[in-house]
Amino acid sequence: MFIDSHCHINFPDLAGRLPEIFDLMTANQVSHALCISVELEKFPEIRALAEAHPNVYASVGVHPDHEDCTEPTVEELVALADHPRVVAIGETGLDYFRLTGDLEWQRERFRTHIRAARACRKPLVIHTRSAADDTLRIMREERAGEAGGVMHCFTESLAVAEAAIELGFYISFSGIVTFKNAASLREVASAIPLERMLIETDSPYLAPAPHRGQTNQPGFVKHVAEEIARVRGLTAEAVGEATTENFFRLFAAARPN
Ligand SMILES: [Zn+2]
Ligand SMILES: [Zn+2]
Repeated sequence: MFIDSHCHINFPDLAGRLPEIFDLMTANQVSHALCISVELEKFPEIRALAEAHPNVYASVGVHPDHEDCTEPTVEELVALADHPRVVAIGETGLDYFRLTGDLEWQRERFRTHIRAARACRKPLVIHTRSAADDTLRIMREERAGEAGGVMHCFTESLAVAEAAIELGFYISFSGIVTFKNAASLREVASAIPLERMLIETDSPYLAPAPHRGQTNQPGFVKHVAEEIARVRGLTAEAVGEATTENFFRLFAAARPN
């Protein structure tokens, strides 16, 4: 069994194809998918998906790349997270690649999410791009380790992975790990402890090999597990079993009773 720890199946490319998406999840033994919020305006549709489908969980948060949307407060995030199917806060973090200029608002928004996660005791889903130093600094300053969480779609160095693990975080690998030019990321995937690893698609983006160029979907997370298994000399089943256990340890609210 595999779990897609990060997808956007409410996005227009995927939302109209849900029956087919769930069929491929079943065929590829993908038991669950965590659908990640990027704007409060779209959160109700994610919550509705998680309420309607027992194999879908939801997060609540506002993406660091989204400029013209409602700025969340700690209180709002905590209130929206108070729902049995909402298992995480995010995605949040810093992105100095997509946006430039004075990004103090992005750092403030990140702090708000960390404070909310600590207050409601739900883990963080963190996005970081070209901003690793500031991301780790703010995680330390805001004591993000008290909430825990995952560095999603990880593309940074082994040193950054180790620093995040030191803070109590998990590292999630996407289809990028299957890309030809991702040798250094494969080294990270072979070096960090299996007990700290998650897998994801970040669909509809970043379809893994052998589906590059197609619209990504949660069923494809199996290929991420296969690549990690290959570089670690394990079976895909072993990677699936470990990352599934890790998922339920981290997102405790998702645990089946
Ligand atoms: Zn992201
Ligand atoms: Zn995402």
